Amino acid sequence: MKTKMIGLTGGIGSGKTTIARHFISWGVPVYFADDEAKKILYLPEAVEEIRDAFGEAAFTDGIPDRQKIAGIVFSDPEKLNILNRIIHPKVKQHFLDWAASHSDKPCVIKEAAILFETGSYKDLDAIILVTAPKETRISRVMQRDNVTREKVMERMDNQWDDERKLALSDHIIENIDPEKARENAFLVYKIITNVPN
Ligand code: ATP
Repeated sequence: MKTKMIGLTGGIGSGKTTIARHFISWGVPVYFADDEAKKILYLPEAVEEIRDAFGEAAFTDGIPDRQKIAGIVFSDPEKLNILNRIIHPKVKQHFLDWAASHSDKPCVIKEAAILFETGSYKDLDAIILVTAPKETRISRVMQRDNVTREKVMERMDNQWDDERKLALSDHIIENIDPEKARENAFLVYKIITNVPN
């Protein structure tokens, strides 16, 4: 049977990484797309394209500098598009290669903060959305990253709101009470791995 490719997403601070860890503990391989994208930035083919697109201003000591790149694309949507066009196809291919290496499994999960925003949800068989109230998410991230409310809001501004994501999602896990969220995640686990109830 074909390995199903499942997306796992949710707004900043919703707890998608926390939920992803539950799936790992039940034997589902999880690909953390945001972490992988950070590594892909340093691969030779990406380095060359970044130099062509942004020049030396994006580098420190010949190495792409994530902070400098973030500064360049932050207030310039066209430059952000260019960066996305460099990185996203490479992450997509890397994920497909990774998924192929797990072809013995009923499903694999791709965890990403922005699955809908990039359109990559279209390549997946189903989407799990993790939700929590906005205020809860803000205070979780303020505490986790030791950042101001404004910083969290800035990051939220680049993401779709939950209403828009709900319409395109197949499974919703509300993550407020941790134990309830784990139980709901387990129900989703049974569905995506075809375990009878
Ligand atoms: P980001 O988009 O920033 O990567 P995320 O959606 O992956 O965030 P997590 O990192 O899993 O979210 O969770 C954010 C913070 O909230 C973490 O410190 C985590 O330990 C905490 N957290 C997650 N779920 C709960 C919960 N149900 N109750 C309380 N705290 C939680």
